[in-house]
Amino acid sequence: MAEPGSIADKVKQQADIVRLVGDYVRLKKSGQNFLGLCPFHSEKTPSFAVHPVKQIYHCFGCGAGGDVFKFIQEIERVSFPEALQMVADKAGVRLPERRPRTPEEARSTGLRTALTKLHEQAARFYQEQLHNSKEGKLARAYLNDRGLTDEVIKTFGLGYAPGTGDALLRRLRDAGAEKEALEASGLVNRDDRGTLYDRFRRRIMFPIASESGRVAAFGGRAMGDDTPKYLNSPETPIYQKSRVLYNLHRAKEAIRRNNYAVLVEGYLDCIGVHTAGVENVVASCGTSLTDLQVRLLGRSARNVVVSFDPDAAGVAATERSLNLLLEQGFQVRVLALPPGTDPDLFVREQGAAAYREKLKQSQPYLDYLVERARAQHDWRTQDGKIAALNYLLPYLARLPNKIRRAEWATELSARLSIEEALVREELRRAAVERRTEIKLRPEVAKVVERSEVKPAERRLLQILLENAEIRADILLELEDAGAHKGAGFERVFEQVLTLAREGTELTPAALADAETSGLSEAERRLVFELAFEEGQEALGSLEEARSCLAAMLRRKLEGELREVQRQIQEAEKAGDSGRLRTLLGQKQALRKSLAELH
Ligand SMILES: [Zn+2]
Repeated sequence: MAEPGSIADKVKQQADIVRLVGDYVRLKKSGQNFLGLCPFHSEKTPSFAVHPVKQIYHCFGCGAGGDVFKFIQEIERVSFPEALQMVADKAGVRLPERRPRTPEEARSTGLRTALTKLHEQAARFYQEQLHNSKEGKLARAYLNDRGLTDEVIKTFGLGYAPGTGDALLRRLRDAGAEKEALEASGLVNRDDRGTLYDRFRRRIMFPIASESGRVAAFGGRAMGDDTPKYLNSPETPIYQKSRVLYNLHRAKEAIRRNNYAVLVEGYLDCIGVHTAGVENVVASCGTSLTDLQVRLLGRSARNVVVSFDPDAAGVAATERSLNLLLEQGFQVRVLALPPGTDPDLFVREQGAAAYREKLKQSQPYLDYLVERARAQHDWRTQDGKIAALNYLLPYLARLPNKIRRAEWATELSARLSIEEALVREELRRAAVERRTEIKLRPEVAKVVERSEVKPAERRLLQILLENAEIRADILLELEDAGAHKGAGFERVFEQVLTLAREGTELTPAALADAETSGLSEAERRLVFELAFEEGQEALGSLEEARSCLAAMLRRKLEGELREVQRQIQEAEKAGDSGRLRTLLGQKQALRKSLAELH
């Protein structure tokens, strides 16, 4: 994000988002904005808008949106610094050369360089061991036996860590490695007496590279019965496991070419699928898939085939990863393998062609989930239907695209033979409120009551965004009263308050900045939609803002009143007179606050 006064901010001022986006999208002036066909999803009528004054873009179809840097990051699939450089070049701004600002920064850069070098040396050492040592020969035979040819072993840079205990340590020391770097590298451990020794012993070594292809860590698979079966590098200044996808640097090009990625769990699965001729494969090794890994992947493609183990743990991992992928707007398919196998084993036993065929037949994630739901619940009963719907709803609710949500709602209601309007309505609400539970009919009355206040929330947010003059006053009142607590858009209001506290200018891009805000897709979209609904009307007035605030506060107090009422009944039943007195006092106070609002 471009902080005020920063070089990024200067570049942003100089660059014209309309011209920059115009290099990629044919834009036509439409009112105050520019409109074009969205480059991030396929469409026939333009729903991609660029706002020349606010210097933002937003697609009303797929929800893509942000500032000029975000646009370049997304379309060119580059990192922020790269996008900054590109925009600067186009705007004719010269970026100053990056120099370490402080001795601390210089030291940490030095350490990172040293660690990278140590990992390079270690990778070479492990490879030599695999090819030249006696122990290594056994390891190589094992790999060959598992169907890994010497060529594949070379491609993936596989190696072997000998059992001696300090062979790597000695090698690195001889090459002049310093103690501080050695200890920080995670390649060696320290025992009780303070002696250093190799972290990896008697293991087949899988180098793990960063996106740029530099080795940053290792995964080691035990050769014998040693535990754990897989041992990974710890986190170091050059390795954060939640930010790395195994094989991404190699697979990146193939992923872009094919416009999708195959996601597997383990190193050997990844290599196995690769040998089956599917080069666009990555693995989430040593961790269950993270949000950051999903974003990383998203720079290369928005389509993913999840190919995990069919066992219980693999199914759970599949369901978890679906949530993350859907939330980030990926199109997801699931490749379901027969029980008792895994991608690596399947390729070895059934052959490359069979795996590729399975890949072709991979199902849209909803079909997969419907099958799972069918296996778990009896659809012939009303309870079973609701349970099945409850299982499926959280996934659907995560779809950021309204149209796709609606399509699936139709599909689901047909399959479950539940009234479509009901499914749609529950989905819509769950998506906005991020609810993960659905309660049919008896609850509908309550839901309607809550929804009446939504326009107030939405409107207040809009006034806050548009009207800087009254913003400070309203924010004070909002925070004082806590009117946003428990509201559907609570997190958006929280983020507005955070920016205000930091003294950051409140812009749609700053508010929705995915890196810092933690907002969901639905919340981000709301922010951008509001930004484009501007005009004199959008400005609002102090009175109007206050009445929105009052409506939100009323909803909150009414909710609290209901809860106190419920607790009163409980206390009455239990005959707890002390508690009853306290609660009645609370009830009276809430009544009074409510009366003052009218
Ligand atoms: Zn779009």
